[in-house]
Amino acid sequence: MVSDNLKAVEERIQAACDRAGRERSSVKLLCVTKTKPINLLQEAYDAGQREFGENKVQEIVWKRPELPADVHWHMIGHLQTNKVKQVIENGAVMIHSVDSLHLAKEISKRCVNAGLTDYPILIEVNVANEESKFGVLPDACEALVREIAPLPGIRIAGLMTSAPYTEVPETNRQYFRQLRQLLVDINHKKIDNVQMYELSMGMTGDFVPAVEEGATIVRIGTGIFGERHYS
Ligand SMILES: *Cc1c(COP(=O)(O)O)cnc(C)c1O
Repeated sequence: MVSDNLKAVEERIQAACDRAGRERSSVKLLCVTKTKPINLLQEAYDAGQREFGENKVQEIVWKRPELPADVHWHMIGHLQTNKVKQVIENGAVMIHSVDSLHLAKEISKRCVNAGLTDYPILIEVNVANEESKFGVLPDACEALVREIAPLPGIRIAGLMTSAPYTEVPETNRQYFRQLRQLLVDINHKKIDNVQMYELSMGMTGDFVPAVEEGATIVRIGTGIFGERHYS
């Protein structure tokens, strides 16, 4: 079942790439595995997937030893500073959810301690100005990038957003366009140490317009593993 879902997702990503004149290799599919059991992760692995995303450190900690070592774990959820050490020690390859200088400083410190020199982080942007969402507002993004850029051990690789929940994917196209423009605008400022290239945007409900608007990472959970049940 997971492999059938993956096939269907893959076809839609490919079609979106074709429409946008993009190479399929320019978009990374991140399988969002939160709350899902190891057997389903293993199915995705067996179908060739290697990029997995979790929103809680604890889930990376217990799942990582259960899967082959070549899985790349991404931290995509809101992160408290007291959990950063665990994220780095457990080998997460990227943190997608940086929205404060305070958090970035802690990541920087832990990376320096671990001997890492350019650990990739993404700045989470609340593009639709939703009260319930984490992330820096678009207007405040450049200032935060300028503050974080000089910190040692880390590198701002790009921007991330979770667009509003919608039944109509097309309604989120404006937000994906806005995030891409924000990345382009900030890159044009030629801030020292800042040349962003990742756009982590698009989930099960809206990844097609996200890819058409330039997503380099789509984060898909439900569309691969089915509905999540929280106990
Ligand atoms: C859960 C989650 C996703 C995946 O959502 P789906 O709608 O299940 O695809 C993507 N990004 C983040 C940050 C998440 O927490």
